[in-house]
Amino acid sequence: MARDPVCGMMVDEKKTKYVFEYKLRRYYFCSEACRDLFKSNPEKYIK
Ligand SMILES: [Zn+2]
Repeated sequence: MARDPVCGMMVDEKKTKYVFEYKLRRYYFCSEACRDLFKSNPEKYIK
């Protein structure tokens, strides 16, 4: 399981289709909305 960096929800990385790669790391999200938020400002969420 991976943690959605935007909302904090646990996400099954094998099932979610909301994946985004940033600085050679993969991040998993519960929804497109969370992924889009992360995309618009990744640094805010990886602290
Ligand atoms: Zn989320």
